[in-house]
Amino acid sequence: MIISSHCRRCLFFKLIYLYEVPILSTRLVFLGTGSGKPTPSRGVSSVGLFREGELFLFDCGEGTQTQMAKSSLRPGGLKAIFISHFHGDHVNGLPGLIGSMVLGNREDPLTIVGPVGLNLWLSTLRKLNILWPSFQLKVIEVTEPGVVYKTESYRVSADVLKHRITCWGYRFEEFDRPGRFDLKKAQSLGIPPGPAYGNLQRGKSITLENGNVIEPDDVLGEARPGLALAYCCDTIPCEGAANLAKDVDILIHESTYPGGEEKMAKKRGHSTSADAARCAKKANAKKLILTHLSQKHPNKSIFIETCKSIFNNVIAARDLLEIELERREEK
Ligand SMILES: [Zn+2]
Ligand SMILES: [Zn+2]
Repeated sequence: MIISSHCRRCLFFKLIYLYEVPILSTRLVFLGTGSGKPTPSRGVSSVGLFREGELFLFDCGEGTQTQMAKSSLRPGGLKAIFISHFHGDHVNGLPGLIGSMVLGNREDPLTIVGPVGLNLWLSTLRKLNILWPSFQLKVIEVTEPGVVYKTESYRVSADVLKHRITCWGYRFEEFDRPGRFDLKKAQSLGIPPGPAYGNLQRGKSITLENGNVIEPDDVLGEARPGLALAYCCDTIPCEGAANLAKDVDILIHESTYPGGEEKMAKKRGHSTSADAARCAKKANAKKLILTHLSQKHPNKSIFIETCKSIFNNVIAARDLLEIELERREEK
């Protein structure tokens, strides 16, 4: 489901209000989708992933905070930022965004993951008084492929992309979640509401007062697979991108050029839409979203037309495009 226009978003929130149903949605928000430099119609690279009240950013090009203000995202829930590389169109928005969060009296720590040099850059900004974060910046410099960030419900891995400078791609992966709790079944088995429900949902068996043992499988449906997405920007076709994209639900891949311009793309360290489609196909991704689109092609349909024969489930991102990945209603 794609919700893109401001009006539909307003309607969405009005509906939540009317029915007073707290809805936790997992969604992707494309904040900047152009390559190189911002224009009135496209900002530069940044994608937000919002899940369970937490926000993650992949890249933070110039103007990211302005784009965020126009979107449904707010920096308060920002948990971590994953920087691919030090080209300005991927990182220049970071000082401004951090500065604004300082002005907003943020206290929560913020994790920033990126290439080696991140510590030096941020500490230099501090020394020059360009940055004076009032909250803790947890900096993680990526030195080798592998897991770079992990909690009990998801992990983020990095792998090497091939660009003109050191560049990392990322894979965000939720762990499988337990099946849905069958309330009617629980009631019919005589399980008293309360801690017993929670224990069963956490995979622990319980013993009722009458001595009957209830196993989690008795009241839980099938385990629900977690969401996986990959962010590969900027790169020429490479093994790292294919590794990150393996079986993902969503592959966000750069497409600076439309298909047919492979020679130029490779020379500049970039991909065409056909390159991205080949990566999606090879990796068995479910959906491909093209981003980092060259401003030289105002008609973006050419990016799709030149790759659809290779991988059909593809769209070209535009600024402020929101894609709802899942909606969970709180019980
Ligand atoms: Zn770029
Ligand atoms: Zn670049």
